[in-house]
Amino acid sequence: MTFKVIEPGSVLGVLGGGQLGAMFTAAAQRLGYRVAVWDPDPDAPAHRLAQRSFAAPFSDEATLEQFLILVSAVTYEWENVPADLCRALEATKPVRPSSAILRMIQDRLDQKGFLAARGLPVVPFLPLAESKQLPAVVGKVGYPALVKTATTGYDGKGQWRVNDESDLGRIERALHESTRPGIRWIVEGLVLFDRELSILIVRGMDEQTRVYPLVENEHEEGILRTTFVPAQVPSEIAGRAMALAVQAVEALQGIGVFCLELFHMPNGELLINEVAPRPHNSGHYTLDACSVSQFEQQVRALCGLPLGEARLLKAAAMVNLIGSDATTIQETGCRALLDMPGTFLHLYGKRTLRPRRKMGHVTFLADSLSLAQERAQQLRRGLASGRNT
Ligand code: AMP
Repeated sequence: MTFKVIEPGSVLGVLGGGQLGAMFTAAAQRLGYRVAVWDPDPDAPAHRLAQRSFAAPFSDEATLEQFLILVSAVTYEWENVPADLCRALEATKPVRPSSAILRMIQDRLDQKGFLAARGLPVVPFLPLAESKQLPAVVGKVGYPALVKTATTGYDGKGQWRVNDESDLGRIERALHESTRPGIRWIVEGLVLFDRELSILIVRGMDEQTRVYPLVENEHEEGILRTTFVPAQVPSEIAGRAMALAVQAVEALQGIGVFCLELFHMPNGELLINEVAPRPHNSGHYTLDACSVSQFEQQVRALCGLPLGEARLLKAAAMVNLIGSDATTIQETGCRALLDMPGTFLHLYGKRTLRPRRKMGHVTFLADSLSLAQERAQQLRRGLASGRNT
């Protein structure tokens, strides 16, 4: 198999300049690359790290031309960057994962359809084209159900929970009000899982894969709050999750980092909630707890370099700092937190604090998962009461 390695010294382009783009930039720079970040938000954290930064709208033709002259290859930090832009870039430069994968993943219906057609387990789902069809479609999927916009929703945004028939009128009106040309929704069975798990996989240009250990996630209001690794599940479940990850990424023929979000059902079944074509919040622990981080793997896969080993060096617990959590941490001078051995604080330097915004994260490493979890719980209790001890 032949492919061109993109050598250190080259400029790598990243679409999206949030914390994931910033962590990609730092990893690329450590390996000797330069980075061009394109994010319409001038305050996006990655702009401050990048050698070249573009804050124009993604539709700006002049920026597209400049970006193309500069970069040797392109990746993206989240799945809501325009797939059309990726396709335009791809005409002359490698984009990894490809624009075709991005486009398919951007649409929950296409994504679930793709996975289901390949025998990969997903939650029951049906398409919804018009708000007035809601009662009939929910009737087929069954109660309780979750209605999601097929595209552009994330972190629980653009979602409605239908507990029973009494919710139908209200949600039908909400869908009607949010109707735009071409909008579609997906109606999913709201499954009662035992726990949420995720697994990161990276696939390189040489078609080799590396899989990180299965992790367990806790969400609050649809946003990831904590990740524990390794997940405390029987090894048979971890093995099955790993096999699903390999099967999904090979079906996609994906090059890059992917994360499968999974539901672990009471009967032992694993269902795929979604596949992210990029490093994932539940993989932030890899920065401090693994031999090679998910961001370095993103760089390696993009550039055609050999992948690194995905070995967990210590048990870890990661807590996201959401909204005012970051102020709570800063107001107390981070002292108590940083005094604790094995603690890694990451603040993303976002200038504007918003209630549901991810502002940073803390990873605790320990000799046992229970100790790492205890420290994470202690932090969460402190944050809940406005202190960080
Ligand atoms: P999503 O926006 O699809 O990533 O969903 C965000 C969170 O909502 C997930 O992590 C789950 O906690 C929950 N969720 C999403 N879809 C379902 C479902 N079909 N059944 C139960 N919970 C779900």
